Amino acid sequence: MDAQGRREREHRGVLASRQISRWLRKGGYNSSDKLVDFRRRALEGVRYCYNDGCEVVGQRKDFKVCPQCKTARYCGDACQRQDWTTGGHKLTCGTAQMHT
Ligand SMILES: [Zn+2]
Ligand SMILES: [Zn+2]
Repeated sequence: MDAQGRREREHRGVLASRQISRWLRKGGYNSSDKLVDFRRRALEGVRYCYNDGCEVVGQRKDFKVCPQCKTARYCGDACQRQDWTTGGHKLTCGTAQMHT
């Protein structure tokens, strides 16, 4: 998998990446293992949104959890509503045993 190409396509929704590239342009943070790991995960993009078909990737903390089950994660209100109504989350909310 070409990480570079993946990044170009999937960077939408990765709020942190813009801030990170600003840091990197300023320099000085490149040697930080923690930041490198943070940056790698942000750019690789982890898809946390439970809404099927949603391509938004990013950091786990950028996704809000379903207030009822505290398990499902969504990139935003739109996806949460959509998964609740058409995605069937209202049927599984609170009953699903998912590991996240
Ligand atoms: Zn989403
Ligand atoms: Zn829920």
